[in-house]
Amino acid sequence: MALIVQKFGGTSVGDPERIKNVARRVLNNKSTDDKTVVVLSAMSGETNRLTKFALSMQKIPDRREMDVLLSSGEQVTVSLFAMAMKALGQDCISFLGDQIKIYTDCSHTNARIQAIDTEKIMDSLNDNKIVVVAGFQGVDENGDITTLGRGGSDTTAVALAAILEADACEIFTDVEGIYTTDPNVCNKARKIERISYDEMLELASLGAKVLDIRSVAFAKQYNVPLHVRSTFSEAEGTWVIKEETAMEGKAVSGVTYNKNEARITISGVPDQPGIATKVFTPISNAGIVVDMIIQNQDTGNGMTDMTFTVLRSDYKRTMKLLESVVESTQATGGVQGAETITKISIVGVGMRNHSGIASKMFSVLANEGVNIFMISTSEIKVSCIIDEKYTELAIRALHDAFELEKDTPAIEENLV
Ligand code: ASP
Ligand code: MG
Repeated sequence: MALIVQKFGGTSVGDPERIKNVARRVLNNKSTDDKTVVVLSAMSGETNRLTKFALSMQKIPDRREMDVLLSSGEQVTVSLFAMAMKALGQDCISFLGDQIKIYTDCSHTNARIQAIDTEKIMDSLNDNKIVVVAGFQGVDENGDITTLGRGGSDTTAVALAAILEADACEIFTDVEGIYTTDPNVCNKARKIERISYDEMLELASLGAKVLDIRSVAFAKQYNVPLHVRSTFSEAEGTWVIKEETAMEGKAVSGVTYNKNEARITISGVPDQPGIATKVFTPISNAGIVVDMIIQNQDTGNGMTDMTFTVLRSDYKRTMKLLESVVESTQATGGVQGAETITKISIVGVGMRNHSGIASKMFSVLANEGVNIFMISTSEIKVSCIIDEKYTELAIRALHDAFELEKDTPAIEENLV
């Protein structure tokens, strides 16, 4: 007997026909004594549609009411799914977050799961029912409905898998798994069989959109094996699991990119204590998230430059804020920026044990004539900011150079 949590995303349940197909698939894959918990998203586009309605009522919609509204999307899919299952002759029961209960904090539209009651779910499973749970929602201590933030159904699934000690959590989506890079950019992109939580966290935060990053962090914390696979094919997908020694044999697991950032430099600021805080406090007070930050050593004249990146959607606001920062820091060089940049990154746990990976990345970019504006690294990642127009070229060149189309490239040969 196995206990499996299966989550289906918005495109998988995008219309009534698709919901029936998902019900058929869940039933076909279930052996008689398996226990199955299904978590569903709203139909694709539904959460956006509801958000638009809300915005037409109130410029900044009330967050409590927003949760009452948005949670309705998942209420529709789980109830229809239960009906479809019953029509197939399999008993099934749907639960909303506040019926189970999935307890969260009170942070409306961005709540965090704190505890889950498993009694109702276990009773129903023991009665041989398939249980279908509305993703993305919970209930707070006041009994108010909460939602977990966009993409939150993945987190519901992982949290349920953790608390139920499920054998696996399968995330069904509209792609076949996690790829070595974006298949739309590089036709040699290969589906990865197994990847570690840490690599997936880097890939998810760097721009790979398949899994919600919070769900990966949760899976890592509770050691829940995730299987990311397609609703529309039977093929095995990608397993996201605890790091294995074999994974370290490979220096680089994937190349990813993010076109959502912009670069800003404030030049000629005095190299003194207190300057960084004068630059970044107004930015963080405005709720703007800064990603990479580079500050150089004083170049001999007591001055330095600071370069950093923000979300592209925050670029204009940040540039405006910096006008007063230029005054308060007496920056002699003013502020420059560029919106058309890409952050391109290579990720792999093998980097911990293999040297020369970063320098190989730089030489690959140099050979393609691509200038690097900024570099940042972590234990298992190297990121470079480049001009946006070279994104595709850079991805293909790096994918080739690190032989990612092969399952196990020879590392020694990789390093020149
Ligand atoms: N329906 C929600 C959204 O579109 C949650 C989810 O699909 O994961 O963000
Ligand atoms: Mg999703």
